[in-house]
Amino acid sequence: MDRSYSMPEESRNRSEIFGANVFNTMAMRQYLSADAFKSVVNANNKGDKISRVVANHIAAGMKEWAMSKGATHYTHWFQPLTGATAEKHDAFFEPTGDGLAIERFGGDQLVQQEPDASSFPSGGIRNTFEARGYTAWDPSSPAFIYGSTLCIPTVFVAYTGEALDYKTPLLRALHVVDEAAVAVCKYFDKNVKKVNASLGWEQEYFLIDSALAQARPDITLTGRTLLGHASAKGQQLDDHYFGTIPNRAMAYMRDLEHESMLLGIPVKTRHNEVAPNQFELAPIFDEANLAVDHNSLLMDIMEKVAERHNFKVLFHEKPFAGVNGSGKHNNWSLSTDTGVNLLSPGKTPMSNLQFLTFFVNTIKSVYENEALLRASIASASNDHRLGANEAPPAIMSVFIGEQLTAVLDELKKVTTGKLSPQEKTDLKLNVIGKIPEILLDNTDRNRTSPFAFTGNKFEFRAVGSKANCANPMTVLNTIVAKQLMNFKTEVDTLIDEKDMKKDDAIFNVLREYIKGCTPILFEGNGYSEKWEKEAKKRGLSNNKTTPEALKAKVSKKTIQLFEELGVLNAKESEARYEVEIEEYVLRIQIEGRVLGDIAKNHIMPTAVKYQNILIENVKGLQQIYGDEFRGLAESQLDLITQISEHLNTINVLVKEMIEQRKKANKMVDLEKKTKCYCEKVLPFIGDIRYHCDKLELLVDDEIWPLVKYRELLFTK
Ligand code: ADP
Ligand code: MG
Repeated sequence: MDRSYSMPEESRNRSEIFGANVFNTMAMRQYLSADAFKSVVNANNKGDKISRVVANHIAAGMKEWAMSKGATHYTHWFQPLTGATAEKHDAFFEPTGDGLAIERFGGDQLVQQEPDASSFPSGGIRNTFEARGYTAWDPSSPAFIYGSTLCIPTVFVAYTGEALDYKTPLLRALHVVDEAAVAVCKYFDKNVKKVNASLGWEQEYFLIDSALAQARPDITLTGRTLLGHASAKGQQLDDHYFGTIPNRAMAYMRDLEHESMLLGIPVKTRHNEVAPNQFELAPIFDEANLAVDHNSLLMDIMEKVAERHNFKVLFHEKPFAGVNGSGKHNNWSLSTDTGVNLLSPGKTPMSNLQFLTFFVNTIKSVYENEALLRASIASASNDHRLGANEAPPAIMSVFIGEQLTAVLDELKKVTTGKLSPQEKTDLKLNVIGKIPEILLDNTDRNRTSPFAFTGNKFEFRAVGSKANCANPMTVLNTIVAKQLMNFKTEVDTLIDEKDMKKDDAIFNVLREYIKGCTPILFEGNGYSEKWEKEAKKRGLSNNKTTPEALKAKVSKKTIQLFEELGVLNAKESEARYEVEIEEYVLRIQIEGRVLGDIAKNHIMPTAVKYQNILIENVKGLQQIYGDEFRGLAESQLDLITQISEHLNTINVLVKEMIEQRKKANKMVDLEKKTKCYCEKVLPFIGDIRYHCDKLELLVDDEIWPLVKYRELLFTK
C-alpha cells in the first residue's frame, strides 16, 4: 500500500528542480552541438559507437555544464562486486608546467579511466589473467553532479574483457532481451524496433538515531543487531504502518527527496512500513539500467542525508529479530518504442494474444530457471528473511491471481492440434477478448508470493533491501530473452513446416507452455509448511541457504545459458560465484567475531558485575539474619545461579565457535569452507545470542552495556 504525503507547494517545486543536476536531454541540447547530441542519442537507441572526435566535443560540453553548476572534480562512477558504488575523484584543474593551470577534461577522460582497482573483488580474474581493469563510459545513463563532482556512470572491466562489475552483464542482458522481444513483437507489429525492460524498485529501510546506533558495535560493524531481547512492544499493534510519519523522519525524507529530485530520481511514494522505524521509498519506474543506477545512487544519498539528520539508515534485510525485515520489490515489465507495455492486456483480441505471449513466456522462463532466480537474490543477510514467515519463501513460484488462472485453464482445455476457425473465434472473443475487463477488477494480491503478476507487470519480491538490483535484473532479463528466442523458433517451425497460420502457431505453442508450467503457478500461502511439502512434490527447489542457492549460478545449464547469450562467459560466471561465496564467508566470519567480542567483553563482565552485587547482597542478608537469610535471599540466589549457567554456556559456545572458525579458515576448498561457515559457524551466532538475551532480562537495566531494542526501535 502506498500513500503519498506530498504537499502542494512541494510538488510545485519538484518539477522545477527535477533533474537539475543531470546532464539530461535538456542540458545536452544546450551544451552540445547538434551532431554530438545526435550521437549520444544514437548510442542509446541503437548502440552506435561514439567516435573519439565526438567524445571530445561531448566532454567539452559536459565540463562546461558541470563547471557552470560549480563542479570542480569528475569521477568515473561504477558498481564493483562489493555491492557499494565506487568513485575516484580527479580535479578538472591541471597545471600546465609554466606556473599556470587550466581546467581540463577531454574525450579521453570521459571515455576511459584506469582506476587502481586491485582491491575490488574479482573472483580471481585479475590475479590469473590481467592485473589491470578499466572503467568505460556508459552513455545510456546520464552523467550527474553530486556535491561538487561530475559523476560519469561507467562499466568496470578487466583488460582481458571480463566484467568486474554489476553493470556490464546487465547491459548485455538488456541487449539480448531487447533483440529477442523485438523479434517476437514483429508477429504483432512490424514497426517495433526496440524493447526496453523497465524496473520500478521499492526500497525498504530502517532509520535509527545515529547516537544510539553508534553505541551498538554490532550495528556499526555488521549492519544488524546480533543480540538484543525483543521489546515488550513490537509491531503487534500495527500502529506504525498505519500511523503518520514521525516529524523527524519526515524531515529526513523531504531532504532526501529534494536531493533525489535534483539527481533526476523520480521518487514518488513514501510511507511507513510494518516494523517500528521502518519506511519505504519508491520512484516511478524507469528503463532498467537507469533504474539500477538510480537505486545504487539513492542508497548512497540516503546514507549521506541521514548523517545530516543524525540518523543511521539500515539497509540490512533483517536488522532486528522479531520484527519485519526489509526487502526491495523489483517491479519489472517490457515495453516497446511504440509505447506498448507488453505485460499490459490491450483492447483487442490480437493485442491480448501479444500480452499472453509475453505473460506465458515469462512464467515459463521462471519455471525453467527457478533455481537460478533464487540464486540471483541469495546473500548471507537475505537468508534471514527468505522463508522466515514474513517474506517470500526460498521457493520460487508465480502468482497470477484467480482470474488469469481461469483464463489459462480455459486455454489449456482447447483441443489439441490445430484450432478450427470457429474455435479460434470463440476463444478469442470469449477468453482472450475478456482479459482487460477481468484484470480491471483483479485486485487480489498475494503478499506471500516471491514473484507475482500485478496487473501490468511482474513483481519480484524476494530481492533483498541491501542488494544491487542488477543481479536479479540480469538473470530475469536473460532467462526471458532465452525463452522468447525458443518461442520464436518453435512458432516459426510450425509456420514453416506445418503450414500453420501465424496466430494458430502462436496459440499452439502457448497452450503447450501453459500445460507444462503448472508446477510453478501457486496461489496459496507461501509461508505455510503445506506449501513446502507441495513444492517438493512439484519438483521445485527450496534452497534455504546462500551456499546451497548459489550453486545454481555455476550449474552446467546456467553457464551454458549465459555463454550462449553472451551475458557472462564461463570464466565470468565462475568468478562471480567465487566472489559471492567468499563474501558469504566473510560476513559470517565478521558476525562471529563481533558477537564473540560483545559476549566476552561487554555482556559477560556486566553479568559478573551484577552477580557480584547480588552476592554482596546475599552476604549482607546472612550477616543480618544469620541462618534465616535463605528464605529472604531466594530470588537473589536463583538469579546468581541462572547468571552462572548462562555465563558458562556463553563461554563454552564462544570457545567452540572460535574452534569451528579456525577449522573452517584452514580449508583450502572455498566451497567446503563456505559450507562449514553455514552449517557449523552460523548456528553459534543464534545460540550465543539466545543466552545473551536471557541475561539481558536478568541483569539490572542500569548497568546493561548495550542500547536496547525498545530504544533503537521506538526513539523517534
Ligand atoms: P505496491 O502495491 O507493491 O507498493 P505499486 O502498485 O504502488 O506497488 O507500484 C510499485 C512500483 O511498480 C512503482 O515503483 C511503479 O513505478 C512500478 N511500476 C508500475 N508500472 C511498471 C512497469 N510497467 N514496469 C516496471 N515497474 C512498474
Ligand atoms: Mg510492491
